[in-house]
Amino acid sequence: MSKQKNKPFILIAESSVRQLLASFVYILILLLLTTVFTALNTRHEQDFRYDSKNHCIILPEYDPADPDNYYIDNRWVLIPNVTDKDIEDGKVTFDDIPNIPHADNVRISSLNGWNDPGPDAVWKNTRSNGPELISFGRGNRTLAMTYAISIDIGSGSAFHLGIPNINGSATVFCNGIKMGVLGDMSKKNSGFDVTSGYQSIPIYPDENGKAYIMIAVESDAGIYNPGLLSTPSLNNKTSDTKMIFVPAIWITSHFTLLVLIVIGGLMISRTFSRRGKLFLLILMLAGMIVYHLYDVRYLVVDSLARLVICYFIRVFLCVVLTQFIASLLPPETDRRHKRISTIHSLSVTVIGIVLIMILFFKRSLIGTTYPSLTTLIFSSVVCMSCVIKLMFLYYGDKNLSLGLFSTITMYFVFLSMQSENDFIYNIPLYSVYTAFALLLLLIYFLRRYVHQYRELKDTTDHLQYLVNEKTIHISEINRDLLNTNKKLMKNEEARKNVLSNVSHDLRTPITAIRGYAELLSSAGDNMSREQRNSYLTNIIRRSVQMERIVSDIVELTRMESSTNEFNFADISLAMLLDETYMLYETDLRETTKKIFLEIPEDDLLMVRADQKKLSRVFDNLISNSINYSGDDAVIKIRAWRSDPDKDISEQRIHITVTDNGIGIPPESINLIFDRFYRAANSGKNIKGTGLGLSIVKMIVDRHDAEISVESTLGAGTEFHIVMKPAY
Ligand code: ADP
Repeated sequence: MSKQKNKPFILIAESSVRQLLASFVYILILLLLTTVFTALNTRHEQDFRYDSKNHCIILPEYDPADPDNYYIDNRWVLIPNVTDKDIEDGKVTFDDIPNIPHADNVRISSLNGWNDPGPDAVWKNTRSNGPELISFGRGNRTLAMTYAISIDIGSGSAFHLGIPNINGSATVFCNGIKMGVLGDMSKKNSGFDVTSGYQSIPIYPDENGKAYIMIAVESDAGIYNPGLLSTPSLNNKTSDTKMIFVPAIWITSHFTLLVLIVIGGLMISRTFSRRGKLFLLILMLAGMIVYHLYDVRYLVVDSLARLVICYFIRVFLCVVLTQFIASLLPPETDRRHKRISTIHSLSVTVIGIVLIMILFFKRSLIGTTYPSLTTLIFSSVVCMSCVIKLMFLYYGDKNLSLGLFSTITMYFVFLSMQSENDFIYNIPLYSVYTAFALLLLLIYFLRRYVHQYRELKDTTDHLQYLVNEKTIHISEINRDLLNTNKKLMKNEEARKNVLSNVSHDLRTPITAIRGYAELLSSAGDNMSREQRNSYLTNIIRRSVQMERIVSDIVELTRMESSTNEFNFADISLAMLLDETYMLYETDLRETTKKIFLEIPEDDLLMVRADQKKLSRVFDNLISNSINYSGDDAVIKIRAWRSDPDKDISEQRIHITVTDNGIGIPPESINLIFDRFYRAANSGKNIKGTGLGLSIVKMIVDRHDAEISVESTLGAGTEFHIVMKPAY
């Protein structure tokens, strides 16, 4: 018993090991995806030459005839506390830079915005009351920074300066002229003059092909990660358009996939043991797509609102992931483990709600500096706990891999959500995972659907087969029932007929017997001896008649109701007829009646028959012939084999009983085999029950033989039986 129990466990364990291995491979695939996507899509710093004399950057490899994106990465000059107004009014120009506090060679970081001067940054011209590098960005004040750069792009061409990611507003100046403002802050916040989602600003170089670009950036007070979050790029209009359309197409395909999954999922959700998990999965994917929308700034909200929304979605996704994993819990899990699972998902949910409440009501607790860190820690703890839970509670279950795959994907998504990667096409890394997960899910649903369809089809085919079989069986039973019913009805009818005929036929002798008995009783001693004897003789005769009727009925009924009444054997018809003939010949010897037998001398006329029953047939036919013929009766019995030269199956044995008696009226010929039927000319003198020929017919039928009659009224009758020979 233990052996049998162990076997499936080992099988399940093996499949779980496979699932773990698959998860490991999945991690490798995601890592590969990350590497490939990052390598192909990250903005790489161009090799700009910095002209320190003119404070400008020369783009020697920039070819206006074949323009691609050029990313101005390092070497920005960072001047704190210079507003767009200062530049517009000419208070700060490129010429002033060497004399005012600034940092050289600043790198714009996607993580820290303008706060990251980079390892090469050099703080210059710091006065005692001037800003310290350390004081930028992380404090709770409104910062106004200016990035300044000069580039040599050749004269006569128009280019676009694009800054896809910005926390705040950026006013772009080229050669001292305000070219435009971009950013994502609404007016209500600090009165910034903004604007829209991703956009670019045209840059026109001066006659020497130089463009002196200054970007004055302002951000909301205390915002985490303020300023430019991605390297400004110089593009022509086409690549600029790409920046807008590629992410648009990307996100549209996300939505399409999600819609397909929702429809597909709903279609096959009947096959899910618990439908809730489908909705949780869809909720998770929808959350990731909404996050994507905000993150790439298709929807223009101010920095703070975006921060709040992204934080909210991250926490929300953690909670949904936990609930989703809980929904996959195998139903057969014991109660203790179920309780552990509930405690886990409940505590994650409660912590998630608390974190969101803190964000809304007491933001100072996590500050504006640490929401990313908070969600990073939270999501890491959640994912780790989910993996541990899966390993302990789901081991051996088929849902293990689905749970692991989901958790792994989500962890990659969470990790990549924390960083604002600097990508060419503005497609964040986590949305690549989202697309990958959507695609895998679609494949999973399709496979599941096909599998279910096949299973359903097999079951339907099997059911169809069973139904067909049962239908045949039922129709057979039905036919048998109908036959039985018919037989029963026939029997019932026969029984009724028999009863009425019997009562009628028995009434005559009974009435006669009673009459004689009453006469005997009333006459007493006054009756002569002869008379009394004659009455008594009549009573005896009637009794005998009654006895015969009763025995005939009994015999007929028995033959009808039972199939085992007959004992078939190979018998010689010639011998049987000879014996019967001998009996009658002896009986008739004293009378004027004659009986003849004509049978072949060299043929025993073997038939397969019940000897007793068959002899009853001939008895009946011969006694009828004697009864229904006058004193000069001549009865002939003949038997012969026809077609002796042919195959045995085609040969037949014939028996005829012929008399020269009263004959049967033509209208009665068809009725004489019916029970109790007696032809009109049979008269009262010839005693009979009308059952004899019924018995004959039944016996002949049961021998698979045929009986026919030919008769001429007043001239005689011939009964003809045709049987199959045994050999
Ligand atoms: P029963 O002889 O007792 O009346 P059967 O069933 O043997 O009953 O015969 C049915 C009827 O067929 C007879 O009443 C008679 O009218 C007719 N019948 C039978 N055999 C002959 C025969 N050899 N010659 C004339 N009529 C016959």
